[in-house]
Amino acid sequence: MGEAGLIERLEGLEAADADGVAVLAAVKRSDGAGLKVWCRHCRAWHLHGHGYGHREAHCRKAGSPYQGGGYILVTPAEAAICCIEAILGDVERSARGRAEAAQALTALVLDHPLLAEQGQDVEDWTLDRRRAGVMEAVGDFMANRGGH
Ligand SMILES: [Zn+2]
Repeated sequence: MGEAGLIERLEGLEAADADGVAVLAAVKRSDGAGLKVWCRHCRAWHLHGHGYGHREAHCRKAGSPYQGGGYILVTPAEAAICCIEAILGDVERSARGRAEAAQALTALVLDHPLLAEQGQDVEDWTLDRRRAGVMEAVGDFMANRGGH
């Protein structure tokens, strides 16, 4: 995957936690010194050390929404799961139409090579369980997508 393709996919993987803090997919730095995250506000990579979790944002762009609360770095697989959970939640609350949701879910589940790249260094059985639950929910949704 080229850099442009990677950035495009990472930009589609932003979610938020229950407190509204941004959840972003981090990938390994090529220098091996930790993780990097693509910032769609700065249009640049922000470099971080090793480890996932909450970080201060290294935004240089004034008014970036990350500057107050920072962001939470997760693996691309976990970010995709967060996005899928958010879409399914929107449908449940009727905040998103079923056709649009089906399209977004298809992009995340079927066309998303990063989703298969589970966990990278992280062995996390809770993530496996979340993924299994989310995939089952997506399967149910797709099976009934004609309904209302
Ligand atoms: Zn930034």
